[in-house]
Amino acid sequence: MPNTKYVFVTGGVTSSLGKGIISASLANLLQARGLKTTIQKFDPYINVDPGTLNPYEHGECFVTDDGAETDLDLGHYERFLNVRTSQANNVTTGRIYQSVIQKERRGEFLGKTVQVIPHITNEIKARMQQLGETGDYDVVFTEIGGTVGDIESLPYIEAVRQLRWELGPENCVVIHLTLVPYLSAAAELKTKPTQHSVKTLMESGINADVLVCRTEHELSEDIRTKLALFCNVKREAVIQSIDAETIYDVPLLMHEEGLDRVVLDLLSLPNNLEPDLTKWKAFLSKHKNPKNHVRIGLVGKYVELQDSYKSILEAFIHAGAANEVKVEVVSIHSEHLTAENCEVQLKDLHGLLVAPGFGSRGIEGKISAIQYVREHNIPFFGICLGMQMAVIEFARNVVGLTAANSTEMDENTPSPVINLMDEQKEITNKGGTMRLGAWDCELNSASLAHTVYGANQISERHRHRYEFNNAFKEQLTSKGLDATGINPDTGLVEIIEIKSHPWFVGVQYHPEYKSTVLEPHPLFSAFVQACSTYANQN
Ligand code: GLN
Repeated sequence: MPNTKYVFVTGGVTSSLGKGIISASLANLLQARGLKTTIQKFDPYINVDPGTLNPYEHGECFVTDDGAETDLDLGHYERFLNVRTSQANNVTTGRIYQSVIQKERRGEFLGKTVQVIPHITNEIKARMQQLGETGDYDVVFTEIGGTVGDIESLPYIEAVRQLRWELGPENCVVIHLTLVPYLSAAAELKTKPTQHSVKTLMESGINADVLVCRTEHELSEDIRTKLALFCNVKREAVIQSIDAETIYDVPLLMHEEGLDRVVLDLLSLPNNLEPDLTKWKAFLSKHKNPKNHVRIGLVGKYVELQDSYKSILEAFIHAGAANEVKVEVVSIHSEHLTAENCEVQLKDLHGLLVAPGFGSRGIEGKISAIQYVREHNIPFFGICLGMQMAVIEFARNVVGLTAANSTEMDENTPSPVINLMDEQKEITNKGGTMRLGAWDCELNSASLAHTVYGANQISERHRHRYEFNNAFKEQLTSKGLDATGINPDTGLVEIIEIKSHPWFVGVQYHPEYKSTVLEPHPLFSAFVQACSTYANQN
């Protein structure tokens, strides 16, 4: 049996404390010391996966190579570790119950009453150890979604308690992330919420080994000692997590606080060598010392909530650093864009990205914006729905198919330049039935995409139902909208470009999912570079 170590990360006091970033930062520090690490997320909600959730609920839905629709924290894991995740890295209560109920129907429980303990907790424990049992990892991190004390988290906390007892504390560490709020009226940091949340965890039989305290102000020595005493942890295991300038500073801040040393100690792993953070620091230095500044518009219908476009925003940070350019992303609500106000809203931008999305709300605004940047030679990057809208705009305004549309928006359009594939027409279930995950794409050797990727064949992740309609390909290409990336198995168009425009690229897939700190996505890098050139010329 592989000797995998487990680190569990729970959260207390409030949600949104950044368990994902703390988990990813610590995993990153252990990786920088030569350990093989991965992170998984257990979400207590009952949806089988977040694929059917509106972005307003939990932000963007992240997609893995194997086509899993997952929590956005998996994006952070990939961006921080530069290691791919998969279906196994995200588990929800819905999935746990689904699999227990399927086993019950198959008669696998031999006439027993099926209960939360032991059946649900056994299923959770099995999933918690699944990646560890592959032998591919030295340390597996498990982030438990939600907040300690929630009814729906209880089976997960109980599973952690049992695993700790079964595997022994030297193989299983619990980190509890809490908030130490500052009361400005009293000019004081308050430890009581943390004490209460640690106590709640104890009521479930778990004594946290490490406390990571989110705070807006430095924790004094007194406060650290007090927290250690009242919360039953060693003084050096009280870690301050102060608000950072960028999430990418967090690994360095956690290292300064000694989080990696404390955890390695608890897991009886060697902690004498320093982590090699050379490349990480080089990225940060470029990110913080830009030589140019670009303003890029991000058009979408969920722009009020930053988390809806998490991977795109992070990909801009990676690409900005690669180009030593500060990317200022200007959020533009697609519903507020009209043919009349495009000029005012877009004229000061150095580039425009039209975001992915579903449904008809705001699409006419997207189309108007695309027309404006196409006609004004402003760099354009369309992703998924953004690419589909670029095809519609070109069909309407260049080819003359004035009523062109996607059948997603208008089932009866006379010119369905984007339509549903035949195999999608039979599907009635919404969950997990889109074209998902990694698909190959062959690049036209004379294309911009080919130059950008420096390859003939690529693989990118998808999440959509509708496709470029090949029945209109001739008409569109003859007027200058080139299909430069094609899926070799299906003939589906994956990339469109306009050669006569300085930088106009639409992709049916989601490049943002594959951008990481150490490997910025080539299309994002090239787009930022084009925007930077445009900024210098204008
Ligand atoms: N709604 C479009 C489709 O399903 C685009 C989806 C997306 O942007 N991810 O094809």
